[in-house]
Amino acid sequence: MKSVLQDKSPEEISELVLAAGEKPFRAVQIFEGLANGKKISELPVPPALRAQLTAAFEDEPVRIAETFVSRDGSEKFLFELADGNLIEGVLMRYKYGNTQCVSTQVGCRMGCKFCASTLGGRIRDLTAGEILGQVLAVNRAEGGTRRERKITNVVLMGSGEPFDNYDNVVKFLRLLTREGGLAMSARNISLSTCGLVPEMRRFAEENIPLNLTVSLHAVTDGERARTMPIANRYKIADIFEACAYYFERTGRRYIFEYTLIAGENADEAHALALAKLLRGKPCHVNLIRLNAVKERHLCAAEERDARAFLAVLEKSGISATLRRSIGSDIGGACGQLRAKFLS
Ligand code: SAH
Repeated sequence: MKSVLQDKSPEEISELVLAAGEKPFRAVQIFEGLANGKKISELPVPPALRAQLTAAFEDEPVRIAETFVSRDGSEKFLFELADGNLIEGVLMRYKYGNTQCVSTQVGCRMGCKFCASTLGGRIRDLTAGEILGQVLAVNRAEGGTRRERKITNVVLMGSGEPFDNYDNVVKFLRLLTREGGLAMSARNISLSTCGLVPEMRRFAEENIPLNLTVSLHAVTDGERARTMPIANRYKIADIFEACAYYFERTGRRYIFEYTLIAGENADEAHALALAKLLRGKPCHVNLIRLNAVKERHLCAAEERDARAFLAVLEKSGISATLRRSIGSDIGGACGQLRAKFLS
């Protein structure tokens, strides 16, 4: 595989352009052209420079291989990387705009029992430009440009654990928010982690005030470890401390994801315990009923129980939302689509 030009910052592209003996403004044309979703072979630069670039870099590092449209309007994309690996992403349409969910790794090694992404382990990390390339490809497919974006929000909630690919993910976030590129506000970006505490603390110091989201899914360390092996390494109390530090550094409240699994974490006692655990914290809870994965023997909580769970949180003064399940007819949950294609 050649390198990925979309990995590069405007400064890095400038160095390349100057080394090739070209004028500095070519760097701007390249960065902006890529931000418009162009392939290298389509960039508006002199043919000699284009030829030099295509010799060294992948012309289209992230290609939309398949698109699936759900009855609810969401779209699932299967992307092919230059080395043939497959990743997936979802575009969800809301009243306020379109949210794209991106993958950060091919597969995942965190081993959560309810998640399809982890079935085959981690194959490799994505580069910053491969994460960005998913947004660029979908924005272009939707008819967007860098100035007239069709993607209003990005969530790092596809396959992979973002903080297990820390450097590439931080670089991606800097590229995504960069002027001259898609210039997305960090406030419109959500990053979900299974709770890698040292990386959460490190991220608090990067000065990227996004919506930090932590997959909690349990109220005690022991119960958490039943579905999330990472709970054997980091305690819920340490996750809370890292969240508090993020709030201290960025002023951003944080979010907990809580997937409701029948017979596991979804009854009233769990709701009360969760409310007690979170009381007084500047946080929000996103409840979602499990999107059952065929390879895993876990069932979603009933809709009625999910509503009751939400009511307990609200009554206790905890800010919470029960998320609609989106795209269940198109393998909307992490890793489901790729798993289907590999099997
Ligand atoms: N690795 C990161 C981000 C990817 S998963 C993390 O763990 O947070 C994004 C969210 O979807 C996480 O909260 C994850 O726990 C949840 N999730 C994974 N599989 C799911 C499923 N089958 N049903 C519902 N939520 C799921």
